[in-house]
Amino acid sequence: MSYILKTKYFDPERLLTEESLFHTANGYLGVRANFEEGYPEGMPEIRGTYISGFYDTHPIHHPEKLYGFPEIGERIVNVTDAQGIQLTAEGEAVVLRPERLKDYERCLDMRRGLYARTFTLALSSGGRVKVSVRRMASFSVRELFAVEYRVESPDRDLDIEIESRLDGDVENAFDPSDPRVSGKAFKPLRIIGLNAEGLSLEAESLTQGTGFSLAVVSRHEFSRACAISPSVGACAVSLRAKARLRAGEELVLVRKSVFADSSRHPEPMEAARALADSLERRSFSELAEDQRGFLDAFWEGAGIDIRGDERSLRALRFNVYQLLQSAPADGRSGVPAKGLSGEGYEGHCFWDTEIYMEPFFDYAMPGIARGLLSYRHRGLEAARTRARELGQSKGAAFPWRTIAGRECSAYYPSGSAQYHINADIAYAAWRYLEATGDTGFLKEAAAELFFETARTWMEIGHFGEDGRFRIECVTGPDEYSCLVDNNYYTNLMSAKNLSLAAEAYRLLEKEDPGFLSLLCRRIGLGAGEAEAWAKAAAAMRLPYDEALGINPQDDGFLRKAVWDLGKTPPGKKPLLLHYHHMVLGRYQVCKQADVVLAHLLLGDGVPPDTMRKSFAYYERITTHDSSLSYAPFGAIAARLGDADAAYGYFTKAVGIDLEDSHGNAKDGLHAANSGGSWMILAFGFGGFRPRGEGISVSPLLPSAWEGFSFRLRYRGRLVEVGADREGATLLLISGSPIDVEVYGRARLLESALRESFPAAGDTGR
Ligand code: BGC
Repeated sequence: MSYILKTKYFDPERLLTEESLFHTANGYLGVRANFEEGYPEGMPEIRGTYISGFYDTHPIHHPEKLYGFPEIGERIVNVTDAQGIQLTAEGEAVVLRPERLKDYERCLDMRRGLYARTFTLALSSGGRVKVSVRRMASFSVRELFAVEYRVESPDRDLDIEIESRLDGDVENAFDPSDPRVSGKAFKPLRIIGLNAEGLSLEAESLTQGTGFSLAVVSRHEFSRACAISPSVGACAVSLRAKARLRAGEELVLVRKSVFADSSRHPEPMEAARALADSLERRSFSELAEDQRGFLDAFWEGAGIDIRGDERSLRALRFNVYQLLQSAPADGRSGVPAKGLSGEGYEGHCFWDTEIYMEPFFDYAMPGIARGLLSYRHRGLEAARTRARELGQSKGAAFPWRTIAGRECSAYYPSGSAQYHINADIAYAAWRYLEATGDTGFLKEAAAELFFETARTWMEIGHFGEDGRFRIECVTGPDEYSCLVDNNYYTNLMSAKNLSLAAEAYRLLEKEDPGFLSLLCRRIGLGAGEAEAWAKAAAAMRLPYDEALGINPQDDGFLRKAVWDLGKTPPGKKPLLLHYHHMVLGRYQVCKQADVVLAHLLLGDGVPPDTMRKSFAYYERITTHDSSLSYAPFGAIAARLGDADAAYGYFTKAVGIDLEDSHGNAKDGLHAANSGGSWMILAFGFGGFRPRGEGISVSPLLPSAWEGFSFRLRYRGRLVEVGADREGATLLLISGSPIDVEVYGRARLLESALRESFPAAGDTGR
């Protein structure tokens, strides 16, 4: 049951949220869980289908445009709608009127990769009609969205008609009152071809700005003979099938829609047709078998278990499943902040990917992590161009938000000023290399990423009079304090970035000087740059306050007044929707983890007392208005040995979408938080940290659980780490023996290990 998400109530108020929760996606294609037949009149709908990386451009209007402001934005496109199936029974359109509804249920099966919906509707003519739908975005054929639509007449003969529609008349959603979604209407797809023949529907469209084309081919199979009539309209194609259903009889329609876009297929329509042909003989059950096979392998590698808390287990699996649904397998695009479940943030990718989502992929599906880094590597040219716009003579400045590589953030204080994204990407490349030992990737992409991002710090930072390396006027992760000097997170991460670059340089100098000199020539890297990186890293200013014993978020942070969160009315949250950004900037109040996140990512050298005091300090002034906040707090609470506080954050994190606690799941799921939920389990409760060839763990069990476990791929091994009431448990599922440190005790994991919890007061963390 813990792989199943189910609802048995038709709640019109929840429809938009459930469109996101029950969406079906496979990293390439995402379809919101709209009803095939649409909603009863008056119920709002965000009907959407998205393709990873399929975007169009639009001009960004700045009434007060200054130098270097981005002029062109990118936005994910709501593409051709292949969801539409309209059923008519005895001449009456089947629409879900709550007063006529029975046995309503919708269900996401994360074990099988299927979504299902069933209902029985009383007709005004007196009869009833029962409908059961199953859907999947296939993991074996990523271009495929398949629907099985069953209609049954439980008690009398019925005349029915099914109209299946492929609709090119689509536009994006917008809401001018919420900065987290687009405020502007957008209808970029122009139809260039429609075709309906027999049981096949085809539509081809073109985006106006980018000129990308998309072909969609829908093929239909009916379980029994029907009178079929295809038709071509101005913006849509459809086919009608008529049949008389005897009492107790069932009609099954299987609709396979194949999407092919020009970024992946030079001839999209030919490719879509060929794929549709190849799927012709595959029944829905066979496709479901393939899907099951894929998910068997996925859960084998990414298996998680929580004993004694079914609710948390289901919620965590839901989050992990969302990561799988969101990430492209082909490395050709990034992961939007909302995955492929909605249009929040216009489908842009942020640092969310590198810092929150990639850790899961590094240790569960490293191929996906590699692909995501390759996508960033391909964005280097655009990042170099952006760096020049920002006044740099060297290096690359990655965009804060983007789809294809250009900076799309119109509000630079909480956009381009977040230079830390450069260090985040370098950090993610390092973590991937550490997890996999994939040395080929160092030469293929990572070294260039390290070098070009390191150069950015040398360009925007400087050595102060005290000899410290300083980085002024940037924004750290906490967007309530913008344009600050020496943001602790940015400086700590950039120091890592600089030393990674210096180390990679030295390593290549020793192991492959030929490659290094070619790379240096290509990117114009001069003698002495690597030395300067190492020097700047060693001299990095990291704010520390003696009196409080904490790391201040930036140089000026502690001088500001403290915002009284206790006196802030609940109706005024999230603060960003109720206070001017400038007002927030005058106070010590955080939207999200900043120093605490830095401690999670690079805390090994931080004294435990500083970590503890910083955690307590920031906990009092953090609103968690960003969904990216719970995970670092949860993981650090566990690291500090406070299992119950960690559990509190964990519960909030895993429930953000399921409980819609941020009130905006309708715009899409919070993919970074999904990764963050896994991070609390692995880095927090598991105390997992990579250590070169081996790993270190220090599991901690919250009192609400009887036990837990999670799996990790590490340098060719599959390891299961967990805890029960007695202590830590480790299993080597596959691969050769591996060195592990459990609560600081060195061990060799050959098959299974048990270690008792350390004595009170010694967390081994
Ligand atoms: C957060 C950012 C995040 C973005 C997209 C914002 O609310 O403050 O850190 O990257 O959402 O998820």
